[in-house]
Amino acid sequence: MNQIINNIEQFEAVIGLEVHVQLSTASKAFCSDSATFGNLPNQNISPVSLGLPGALPLTNEKAVKYATKLGLAIDSKINQYNFFDRKNYFYADLPKGYQITQDNEPICIGGKLKIRLETGEEKDIILNRIHMEEDAGKSIHDLDADYSYIDLNRAGVALLEVVTEPMISSGEEAAAYLTELRKLVRYLDICDGNMEEGSMRCDANVSVRLKGETKLGNRCEVKNLNSIKNVQRAIEHEIQRQIGLINKGKTIDQNTLNFDAATGKTTPLRSKEMANDYRYFPEPDLLPMVISDEYLEAIKAEMPALPEQLYQQFTKEMGLPSYDALVLTADKAMADYFIAITKHSTSYKLASNWVMGTLKSFLNETQQGFADLRIPAEEIAAIINLVAHKEINNSQAKNKLFAALVLQPEAKVANLVEELNLIHKKCDNELEGFIITALEKFPDKVKEYQNGKKGVIGLFMGEVMKLSHGKVDPKQANKLIIEKLEGIK
Ligand code: ADP
Ligand code: MG
Repeated sequence: MNQIINNIEQFEAVIGLEVHVQLSTASKAFCSDSATFGNLPNQNISPVSLGLPGALPLTNEKAVKYATKLGLAIDSKINQYNFFDRKNYFYADLPKGYQITQDNEPICIGGKLKIRLETGEEKDIILNRIHMEEDAGKSIHDLDADYSYIDLNRAGVALLEVVTEPMISSGEEAAAYLTELRKLVRYLDICDGNMEEGSMRCDANVSVRLKGETKLGNRCEVKNLNSIKNVQRAIEHEIQRQIGLINKGKTIDQNTLNFDAATGKTTPLRSKEMANDYRYFPEPDLLPMVISDEYLEAIKAEMPALPEQLYQQFTKEMGLPSYDALVLTADKAMADYFIAITKHSTSYKLASNWVMGTLKSFLNETQQGFADLRIPAEEIAAIINLVAHKEINNSQAKNKLFAALVLQPEAKVANLVEELNLIHKKCDNELEGFIITALEKFPDKVKEYQNGKKGVIGLFMGEVMKLSHGKVDPKQANKLIIEKLEGIK
């Protein structure tokens, strides 16, 4: 498989992703069993989860709400009359013998999600649908040599399946899409977005075709992708593999593949028997769901600001560089904290630098997130305002004030400034006086400077620092000293 493919640019890849989003509802999709992850096996079960005869499902309203929220966030058309179907198949971890899902009438139709690539290029990934369904239980094959174990805690947990159109063109685009989707479900607070723990599961459908061809090639579906990085690796490998086969005159079999993260390769899991008949039919135990206009309006009213809206606000209204806006919006708690600072300070770029720099490094070092930060945003804003007005310098801000707040998060910057003896408002006005005094003290050095010996600035700086007891901003002092020296002819 490591053959060199020298006609790769004649091909294009076409990828469609199916992502299962596990909703963070307290109970399951169709009964009140707990949906908590990590309990002892078979604790979260009732006759409904077990599929006992006569047990009846009941739709979890929160799950409908979460699906609607995601649909609204990606501009889907919300299907106001939709119903559930049964997908029939036999498997040990599916006690009912069918999965409740949506086939013909999914709750969300269409939609789009904008991605940004490293090149700065933007692309709208078009969604086909989002439908609601329930999860199956878990079969555990590696605990015993002779038996398989079944844990039904997950059976019936609420899922959304988010399906894109076949229009993603590379592993990098797929990774960007997943990053964006994960960010969105976290902003909406409908899923923890943790791929490693299975809260978001992705299947990648990959095909290739010659450029210019309009018909889609045969696709393979890669399963078991438990991180965004692995989705990208699997797709990149699969594209190479398929082009390699076509170059050898072979056709692509429509297989389901497994990705092995250790080797980076895909291997056949099962061939897709074309006669995969799930005998879908409408779920007779659940009424069709009617989503009223009022219900939709109520959900719209409680939608939080979304990453893309914040990106636009940060770049357009606050004038932040795109890079800053992307970093700040990557994490909702971080964006929220930044916004909280800007309620008390309009020095947006300084605020952004503080959030991305000092605050983020402090949190990283102490293994915390922005949600854990105990220092009120208002106090950080107070520090930023002091820096912006040149009343203190950056090093005083960080090493004195911020350091003090870390130790006493309930302290007020206004008091700390006094306690630490930081502000000498007159100092700024006095700066010029200090410089004049310093220059007058060393007239020979002024001459040396004018003769080209620029290094003497250090001496004047030292003198000014001494005169001001270190309380002037070194950068500003340096600038003013040069101005004064250049001014003396
Ligand atoms: P299935 O019923 O097998 O799940 P779907 O029609 O629902 O098939 O499509 C599943 C996913 O596969 C979608 O994301 C779709 O965009 C993608 N897909 C379909 N055909 C192709 C293809 N030829 N190449 C790449 N992706 C494809
Ligand atoms: Mg599918």
